[in-house]
Amino acid sequence: MENPLTPEVLADPVALTRALVDIESVSLNEQAIADHVEQALRGVPHLTTFRHGNTVMARTDLGRAQRVVLAGHLDTVPHNDNFPSTLRGDLLYGCGTSDMKSGVAYALHLAVTLPEPRYDVTYFFYEAEEIESTYNGLFLVSEAHPEWLRADFAVLLEPTYGVVEAGCQGTMRAIVTTHGERAHSARSWRGVNAIHGAGEVLRRLQAYEGRRVTIDGCAYREGLNAVRIVGGVSGNVIPDRCEIEVNFRFAPDRDAAEAEAHVREVFAGFDLAVTDMAPGALPGLDNPAAREFLTAVGAEPVGKLGWTDVARFAAMGVPALNFGPGDPNLAHHRDEHVEIGKIRDGAATLHRWLAAV
Ligand SMILES: [Zn+2]
Repeated sequence: MENPLTPEVLADPVALTRALVDIESVSLNEQAIADHVEQALRGVPHLTTFRHGNTVMARTDLGRAQRVVLAGHLDTVPHNDNFPSTLRGDLLYGCGTSDMKSGVAYALHLAVTLPEPRYDVTYFFYEAEEIESTYNGLFLVSEAHPEWLRADFAVLLEPTYGVVEAGCQGTMRAIVTTHGERAHSARSWRGVNAIHGAGEVLRRLQAYEGRRVTIDGCAYREGLNAVRIVGGVSGNVIPDRCEIEVNFRFAPDRDAAEAEAHVREVFAGFDLAVTDMAPGALPGLDNPAAREFLTAVGAEPVGKLGWTDVARFAAMGVPALNFGPGDPNLAHHRDEHVEIGKIRDGAATLHRWLAAV
């Protein structure tokens, strides 16, 4: 098949965004887009290109003192009457315009057009970010070829509307269970009602005040919430069990053990089981490449509240942040779009950062 990623398209981040959007790549169907991206990179003399599944990596090896990663996922969520792209004025509409083919376009454009970046650069295009972790190309490569991801700093080109979102909060889920004793509801005094026992759990949640913390100038705000409650046997039985599922979103200065200890302290005296734990990532903005990146952007960073793949880089010891032109609020929406002006601004910022000597 003819490659739509021609040299003219690769030279223009806006045309490139549109061409990438118009290659269908719903999660687990990234073969075509990975083939095109790989082919576009293979012919470039200053890059060495590798592939693992439908994840493509290309790198410079100029012997620079520092190495940075520019990373983006190639997949999208399923289409919703928004494929292929349409252009309306300054807005490019279509599935993946914001999340995150405009970001992928930055990395691909710079990979091809910048033969002598000031740092060595690893350009990383990965599969299956939008679905379960087990398919995630960044996760798979971190297991199979961790050396591909060795670097001093990473920029994940997810949508942030041109703002730098640094680090990310962690997330933990747990089940708090209250116990009672079954009885016929006509003689309720013979039992112990586990749903009533949940009242104290809910009171503690209602009284809970999430901590706010500022790290490297980035503000984070924690939250502890009930997200599900299950209990009851039937309409005439005093229930002997009630489960309250809670979700704790925690700032990246707490690790997994500290997050768990904190939640256990809040629910002291209750039966608690942790069901899911994903630690966050510190912003890591004291790194020289990160500082120079912030200078190029020229704006203060903000803390990332949601969990992102930045945490996977952090787990490999690579400080990372999010920076992309798309509006994160439009991701996964039917009217997903990106502003052409934002694409150009961000491309200029990245160019300023990587090309400066
Ligand atoms: Zn995304």
